[in-house]
Amino acid sequence: MTTKVRPKPFLVPHFCKGCGRCIDSCNKHCITAGTEIDPLTGLIPVHIDLDTCNGCGLCIDACPEPYGLTPIPEDATPADFELMDPEKLFGKKTNTAPNPVDIPDETIPLPKFEPLVVKGTYASAVGAILAGCRHFFGYPITPSTEGAELMAKLLPKLDGSFLQAVSEVATVNMMYGAGGAGLRAMTFTSSPGFSLMLEGISYMIGSELPGVFVNVMRGGPGLGNIAPEQSDIKLACRGLGHGNTQAIVLAPSTPQEMLDVTMLAFDLSFKYRNPVIILGDGYLGQMTGKVTLPPTMLRPGIPKWAVYGDAMHRANVHTSIYLDENDLENHNLHIIAKYELMAKNEQRADAFFTDDAEVLIVACNTPARMAKGAVEALRKDGIKAGLFRPITLWPFPIEAFRKSITHAKRIVVVEASNGQLEDEVRLALSKAGIHNPPEFEHVRHFGGILPQLDEIVAAVKGNEVAA
Ligand code: SF4
Ligand code: SF4
Repeated sequence: MTTKVRPKPFLVPHFCKGCGRCIDSCNKHCITAGTEIDPLTGLIPVHIDLDTCNGCGLCIDACPEPYGLTPIPEDATPADFELMDPEKLFGKKTNTAPNPVDIPDETIPLPKFEPLVVKGTYASAVGAILAGCRHFFGYPITPSTEGAELMAKLLPKLDGSFLQAVSEVATVNMMYGAGGAGLRAMTFTSSPGFSLMLEGISYMIGSELPGVFVNVMRGGPGLGNIAPEQSDIKLACRGLGHGNTQAIVLAPSTPQEMLDVTMLAFDLSFKYRNPVIILGDGYLGQMTGKVTLPPTMLRPGIPKWAVYGDAMHRANVHTSIYLDENDLENHNLHIIAKYELMAKNEQRADAFFTDDAEVLIVACNTPARMAKGAVEALRKDGIKAGLFRPITLWPFPIEAFRKSITHAKRIVVVEASNGQLEDEVRLALSKAGIHNPPEFEHVRHFGGILPQLDEIVAAVKGNEVAA
């Protein structure tokens, strides 16, 4: 009986990206991390010592790179190896991997729990876990840090990864990597940190990668302060880095909604393969409230488009580079069509006493809570006031808004910014062809001061409020 010698692996160093999967796969410890930068690639290939190799082939299976580790052909001669040309050694590479298929998500029922009493950032972190997020990248910044802290405590217990990056720029690039691998990843940040992430968000949009960004907005401009402001509505709705970028922007106003919209954000992010932005505010992030958990949680699968590092997903590529002008225009047309689909299907709003409202107050996040109290007070005084609360700031819920202004004579926009929400309302009206809307008025504050119930009531009644 002849014993067949199993082929040992061979590596052309400049086809190795140094990912280390082969190191983990080798029980014989033949493969070690490299120390020399390959001048052709700038990467550090692994080092292989085949003395104790038994040709098991596990490293070959583990290597995700085309022309990565390959079995040494039986008839190869030393001269062949000097060429370091894999095509000459192994022939033309053919992709024998099966076409990737979706590994579906699984819904898992949850037992009935008593409601939690938690702050907004915690509620969002819990929502992320229930939505299947097991990868967190971030850089601490007040007033969002507690969300990251909770993820740091929970994720290691759930076989997840928590990584504090060196900066927000590093964070967003890690989000790109995790999204590219088809994994549910999130970050918590606050306004100056969000600004730093914008270039990377543009890359993620260009490469059609999912990821959830929770921005607990604080006072600006510049470093401003750590108090609540709605300072990034403009950035999130109109300024997500360079190019024709757009993402769904969700604006919760209670800790319960922080949980609910975080779960929704993961679904939408994967549905459209696009980042989703959650805009909270410093007060909402810190505010404690009753939060009821949903009846189910998710164990996510792996989408077929993921660059997951196994044979099935080997041929997948994510990029935002289209050097040919026609290719880039076509890519833009493709993502713009996707934005149109989001705009049509994903408008969300909450309407409170709007059916007969003659004064329509528009507010979101924490200011919407004061505005709701103001509507109740005004109704008691016989004034037909209503509250329109956009839950998606982009796409602005113009269809629901159109209904809410049916009887309105005045629109009062209540916000903690210098008209960033009002601009979204005006733009949505204009784009919808509503050119003679009711008269606009506003109640605005900045720098950590939020509009108060009394002053909203006074503004609607046309009174000055005592300072
Ligand atoms: S073939 Fe097996 S023993 Fe040889 S290097 Fe690869 S994993 Fe290690
Ligand atoms: S798995 Fe392949 S690409 Fe990754 S380090 Fe090993 S040889 Fe290099």
